Amino acid sequence: MSAQQLVLRQRAELVRALCCGGSSEGLESILDLLLSWGALVWEDYLNVCVAGKTLCSRTRELLDLAYSKGESTCCLLLAALSHVLPDAQKDNLRFGKCSNIQNSLEMPTSATLTLLSDRPDLVTQLRNCVEGALGILVEKGFITSSECEEIQLPVYTSSQQVRRLLDLVKCKGEVAAEVLLQFSKRIQKTVVPPNKNDTFTMSASVAEYQKKLCSSISAQSHFLSTYSDTGKFSLDDIYTEGLLELGQTSTQKSLNLEDVVGPVGTLNMEADTVLVSGEAGSGKSTFLQRLHLLWARKTVLHNYLLLFPFSCRKLNTEQQDLSLKELLFLHCCWPDRDQDQLFQFILDHPHLVLFTFDGLDEFKQTFSDDQRHCCPTQPAPMPVLFFNLMQGSLMKGVRKLVTSRTEAVPPILRQYLRKEVLLKGFSPDGIDCFVRKHHSDPGVASHVLESLWSNTALLGLCHIPVFCWIVSKCYKELLGFGNSGPQTITDVYLMVLQHFFHHRISKGNRLGKGWVQQHFDTIMRLGKLALQALENSHYIFSETEVQNGGVTEEDISKGFLIQSKNISFDGIHYEFLHVTMQSFFAALFIILDSNSNNHHTIKRLFQTPRPEGCLGILQAKKYDGPSTENPNLQITSTFVSGLLSKRHQSLLLQCHPIQTLNKKRKQVVKCVSRGMQNHFKSIPRPVKGEKKSMHAMPGFVWLIKCIYEMQDSEVAKNVVATLEVEHLKLTYCNIGPLECTALAFVLQHLQSPVGLQLDSNSVGDVGVEQLLPCLHVCHSLYLRNNNISDEGIAKLVEKGIQCQTFKKIALFNNKLTDVCTQHFAYLLKTKQNFLSLRLGNNNITAAGAEQLAEGLRCCQSLQFLGLWGNNIGDKGAEALSHALEDSRTLVWLSLVENGVGSAGAQALARVIRNSTTLDELWLSKNCITRDGVEYLVQALEKNSSVTSIWLRGNNLSPEEVEEFSLRESRLTF
Ligand code: ADP
Repeated sequence: MSAQQLVLRQRAELVRALCCGGSSEGLESILDLLLSWGALVWEDYLNVCVAGKTLCSRTRELLDLAYSKGESTCCLLLAALSHVLPDAQKDNLRFGKCSNIQNSLEMPTSATLTLLSDRPDLVTQLRNCVEGALGILVEKGFITSSECEEIQLPVYTSSQQVRRLLDLVKCKGEVAAEVLLQFSKRIQKTVVPPNKNDTFTMSASVAEYQKKLCSSISAQSHFLSTYSDTGKFSLDDIYTEGLLELGQTSTQKSLNLEDVVGPVGTLNMEADTVLVSGEAGSGKSTFLQRLHLLWARKTVLHNYLLLFPFSCRKLNTEQQDLSLKELLFLHCCWPDRDQDQLFQFILDHPHLVLFTFDGLDEFKQTFSDDQRHCCPTQPAPMPVLFFNLMQGSLMKGVRKLVTSRTEAVPPILRQYLRKEVLLKGFSPDGIDCFVRKHHSDPGVASHVLESLWSNTALLGLCHIPVFCWIVSKCYKELLGFGNSGPQTITDVYLMVLQHFFHHRISKGNRLGKGWVQQHFDTIMRLGKLALQALENSHYIFSETEVQNGGVTEEDISKGFLIQSKNISFDGIHYEFLHVTMQSFFAALFIILDSNSNNHHTIKRLFQTPRPEGCLGILQAKKYDGPSTENPNLQITSTFVSGLLSKRHQSLLLQCHPIQTLNKKRKQVVKCVSRGMQNHFKSIPRPVKGEKKSMHAMPGFVWLIKCIYEMQDSEVAKNVVATLEVEHLKLTYCNIGPLECTALAFVLQHLQSPVGLQLDSNSVGDVGVEQLLPCLHVCHSLYLRNNNISDEGIAKLVEKGIQCQTFKKIALFNNKLTDVCTQHFAYLLKTKQNFLSLRLGNNNITAAGAEQLAEGLRCCQSLQFLGLWGNNIGDKGAEALSHALEDSRTLVWLSLVENGVGSAGAQALARVIRNSTTLDELWLSKNCITRDGVEYLVQALEKNSSVTSIWLRGNNLSPEEVEEFSLRESRLTF
């Protein structure tokens, strides 16, 4: 197709590509190139740039002009477009053969012509020093100071100022042009060319707005809402670093706050949206709040001049169509003057601007990319605006940081993500640090920590900051209970409920057993408000809504509802202290309300669609309960299960007849059991020769948590009675200590042993401990990539040696050191049916290998030993070889990437010589030389069991590799 036809046929797309961001920089850069290539003459340029025309009409003018000028101009236009447009916008455009046109013009013969031919470069070179250039021209009398002021009008971006300067100097004659060119040459020599992204001139009004934005953000983020009643802690006092990790990677490197926005872990360079995901209460809002506060103090993210914080909760309340400009200024911070100029600055410098959106999961509409909206000044409904911002059609180049509950991230959004960061809550050290910050009295802090460590189920819960906050807040209720203290999330929320009521009761009138009854009306009023709102993804309540819900001043004074601190609202607005609190009240209402309709509510809450047609993994996706649509209903259902636990019956019986409670309980048990059955039915039949394996869907973990909340072993037993799998796969399922507790509670009742695969979760040492009750039904445990240290292994081994069926463990990529090898040596000595030990990618050295060898010497069962990616060296390889020399069971050994040299190979040769069972030996990526391989070859002559020895990446020349390959076909290079 000719260039002319391409321009004509793609007219709409080209207009969109050049106008979608709202900035004229793209069009102007194209004009620069066309002038410099001689494709446009000066008059053409002036015709396109007539003052007062909109960006779109200037673009159309240019397209018409190029078309009328013919094939060669169109070809140059397409070349310029290909040069200027970002890659993402080029994807759907065709440039024919024009995209690689080089400038083949002759050398310009005068200074004024050079201004034209070098125009694109001059714009880049001079935009950082317009003032200097103007100064010289004024000094030499070529331009007047009023011309100078006009060029520097703050409505123009620095690039536009240069263009205006070039246009002016062109009319001032050869000498003026010469002076400007000389100035440009001089600065080229002295100044390192600035990074394209760093150049800008901040006008006074932008600076003023930045100041206003900083002080408003600083004021909003100074306190955490959960401490609003005490006024005791500022964010600085209490903020504790949470664990931040990159999603979709097997390396568990902790990120810092700036890394989240920075380049680390970028998967899609074209996308602008960074997602921070985590569970409810894992600290997403607090993380953003911290980031806002530090930015406002200019401590972090210096690259971003302007930060616009949005809350999806608040965006939900927006009924009107808004333009992007209105969205920024109305929802974040109103500029006192020069709105247009300020907005233009934002459009022209997208890389200096950061948008944050808290709580994507709380946005009413689900993400959709059906409706494109590119124009920043045209109003659109809020969802359209929001989705186009995230997806990148609107404000391309502005970095957007969005937080969401992991389970609520819509799959279609993923293609627009630059990267995903997981917020995994507190580490055990984080819990320690938080509790110490919370309690200024070190004695009390130690006391609280002691009771946490004596109740590991509760400790597991405290990895989620919101639970940690409650536990710290209710420390008086907690102390002294040890293991009989709260075990489930429902226990924790009942504790905080009691704490709040207790707190607000005058002295001498302590809460007795009947405290739920005493506060029944308040609970019901708040519960009704909470449930109705949750069902509609509603989280902020106006005063009228609160009053219409019958909520009284006194109810509010209890502290569960707090005033929304978003200052840009008209009038007072309320929200629950945390969304989990809203879910808890909704659950209380469902349980305590005697209305028969609640039967349907429970049914809906636990709804899991029936299987359709043939069974298979795809169908299994459907059994996710209420999760993806509204994750808060999922938490509500967990609380409903917990409140129906027999342990809380006496508390609730005060205000509800036992028959109704039992009926509701039966219904929930039925729903949960049916949900589990649906999961099991979705397991595909095993392929012949393979194990029957089930890959759990997120809904599976939710159901397991509901059963745990009920704390009824009979329910757990019945539910798993029919599960017949040999392998249960729960990789990348966000399993932390809390989920481990629930899993163990249910899985311990399995009828026959399984392989439990929990790779790439956040199990940690506390989670390992929580899993121990189900270790006796695990023949294999896969815990790759789980932040486990030697401490966790000590406990695991202690229990493991008592479990007859436990035979295999995989711990690739954790935080293990030589210390863990003592425990494994003990296990190998003690447990004579252990089959497989995989410890790859940890920090085990020669000393660790020597310890392990102690165990191996006495072990008569081990078949698989994996130490890939440690650092055992020759010494370690020798120690292991001595221990394995007489093994009659070893089938597979990997010492890949361990710094093993020829001495190590010599020792391993003795294992090969003696073994009748060894099948594969992996020695790739070591430093074995010719001598070492010689030993291996000679040993192979005496061995018939080995099928391959892997030696790729050792110290051998290509000739040596060829020679050995010919001599021994079982060597693989
Ligand atoms: P999310 O947004 O993930 O639901 P939040 O950020 O609202 O969670 O956290 C809930 C509560 O947990 C906060 O109000 C605060 O009390 C506590 N919290 C969360 N993260 C931290 C943190 N990093 N340091 C201290 N407290 C935290």
